[in-house]
This record gives sequence, structure tokens and C-alpha cells, in this order.
Amino acid sequence: MSIRVGMGFDVHRLVDGRELWMGGVNIPYHLGLLGHSDADVVLHALCDALLGAAALRDIGFHFPDTDPRFKGIDSKKLLVETMRLVAEKGYRFGNADITICAEQPKLNPHIPAMQQAIATCMGCDPGCVSIKATTTEKLGFTGRGEGIAAYATVLIEK
Ligand code: MG
Repeated sequence: MSIRVGMGFDVHRLVDGRELWMGGVNIPYHLGLLGHSDADVVLHALCDALLGAAALRDIGFHFPDTDPRFKGIDSKKLLVETMRLVAEKGYRFGNADITICAEQPKLNPHIPAMQQAIATCMGCDPGCVSIKATTTEKLGFTGRGEGIAAYATVLIEK
């Protein structure tokens, strides 16, 4: 059996006039993340971790932000396509561990819904998708509320 690990990291800026999508869930907040797609920073970090584990380059390589096909796209579709690419290389998903860095809004109430949304896309048990939320103690761009960062680590096997 071959076991492989991957890590992903993503950042998006918080702005007025956008919906906030994270982990495939629409979270009520007065700001949203800016991006070519729905800017779901959590799913983007997760896709990059999956692609990294399979040595399949990165999310920008497969879904470029210059391509009008991906304008405003639901990142759950990108996750489903990423899983297809990983499966095509013969890998099964093992588990993911995700950390979101955000000063606001409070994310803990939304974590079960994010786990469920991700598990539905990936065809796995929600228990295989860990999501943790932290602040950065008001330090840096996340601490000032200028943006949100997410880190993901995944294990895949064949
Ligand atoms: Mg992104």
C-alpha cells in the first residue's frame, strides 16, 4: 500500500458586497471573500492538499482564474473534479485536517455543516474531515479582519 500526504494553503481578502462561503457553506456575515470563483478559501486549501498528495500540481493549474468557465463557480464543483483527478491516479481519500484562521465571524457553529458539505462532495464519512477554527490573536491580516486563511492536510492511499 502506498500512503501519501499533501498540504494546501489559501488566503482570500474580505470585502463588502460578497457572500461568505467557507467549507461549502454560506455563512451569514456582513463581508464576503473576494475571488474569481466563490472564493471558498477552505475548499481551495483542501483541493490543493489533495492535488499535492497526488503530485497533480495545484488548483490554479487545473482551474485558472483567467478562465471564464470558473467565474463565480461553486467551489464544491472544483472539489468534486479534484477528487475525480485524484481517483483517476488510483488514490482513495483517507482523511483531511483543516485549520481556518479568522478573527470574525465565529465559525464553531458552522463546522458540522462544513464537514457534511465536504463529505458529500468527497463521498466520505464526515468523521474523515476535521475542521478547526482559530483566531490569530488580532495579529496580521487575519487578525485585523482583512482576510481569511486556511490550511489543509490530507492523506490519500492506494
Ligand atoms: Mg483561492
